[in-house]
Amino acid sequence: MCRLPATAAVSETTAMEVLQTDAWVEALELKAAHPDAVPIAGGTDLMVELNFDRIRPLVMLDLTRIAELTEWGPENGRLRVGAGVPYARLIAELGDRLPGLAIASRTVGSPQIRNRGTVGGNLGTSSPAGDALPPLFASDAEVELASLAGTRRIGVGQFVTGPKRNCLADDELIAAFRIAPAEGPQQFAKIGTRNAMVIAVCSLALSTWPERQAVTACIGSAGPTPIRCGEAEQFIAGVLGEHDLWRTRAPIPESALETFGELVEHAARPIDDVRGTARYRHHALGVLARRTLTWTWEAYRCA
Ligand SMILES: Cc1cc2nc3c(=O)[nH]c(=O)nc-3n(C[C@H](O)[C@H](O)[C@H](O)COP(=O)(O)OP(=O)(O)OC[C@H]3O[C@@H](n4cnc5c(N)ncnc54)[C@H](O)[C@@H]3O)c2cc1C
Repeated sequence: MCRLPATAAVSETTAMEVLQTDAWVEALELKAAHPDAVPIAGGTDLMVELNFDRIRPLVMLDLTRIAELTEWGPENGRLRVGAGVPYARLIAELGDRLPGLAIASRTVGSPQIRNRGTVGGNLGTSSPAGDALPPLFASDAEVELASLAGTRRIGVGQFVTGPKRNCLADDELIAAFRIAPAEGPQQFAKIGTRNAMVIAVCSLALSTWPERQAVTACIGSAGPTPIRCGEAEQFIAGVLGEHDLWRTRAPIPESALETFGELVEHAARPIDDVRGTARYRHHALGVLARRTLTWTWEAYRCA
């Protein structure tokens, strides 16, 4: 372990200690010994907070040298992806197995941000606008939290408890997330005020699961947390089952697309803010729902 003097610009009265290690167990020991230490991965959220003087931690814990956090692999039929795998690698290495998350990752920031930023950091921030979160919610991903006391796994829907709030304990670090590989086509669509480098006005992740004949959907940036669209999911499962569409691969009736869109729209709990009005977000989510369901269903029909 090495302790560095403060490297960031700090006021004369505030010194900042940066703890570094390349050993995962030592990182957990450091977190236990310094519960106030703020972990830093890619720094693409944290450095903004520091630069704007919104936070001024006395201790930071640098996780960038820990190899275990940057590994991924299969585990009991699922994928275990280290919290420190950056978006660029996720897109390049896991795009075929996690297409929804890869599409969402492509919309994050710029190439520089995607090279540094991690899903672990997106989870750590727990912003309702975090683009990695809706695909994780739509796949019922689990977050793996570690401390010296051991490891616990928690559904991502329980992990995120509110806007920029989560249930990470002071002595815990995010080790990884576990997620089912795609069974069928997946999509993610995001509305912003421009095409790139933009925080979502609202977004929608949608996944198809042909084996269990289900469609799952999760709204981003239109509520205090990402929101699963349970009613819409049940409705479309009923339509696809009733008309035997999983087997025949016939088109989804237009009226069902409309109702699905309305149910997604109603599931949202947006507010008016600088990025858009609640009314616009409701409307846009209906459009995104019809669009992403049409895209995924067309891909399923052609597969
Ligand atoms: C120019 C710019 C554009 C951006 N565009 C987007 C965008 O389009 N979409 C989007 O979703 N985000 C965007 N972001 C935000 C940011 O890039 C993402 O949230 C990213 O996923 C953060 O990852 P990171 O590794 O950089 O996290 P960091 O900044 O290192 O950390 C973020 C938070 O997570 C905590 N943390 C990190 N790793 C761990 C861990 N292993 N255990 C416990 N806590 C941890 C940190 O303590 C901190 O609270 C943008 C940021 C910038 C600067």
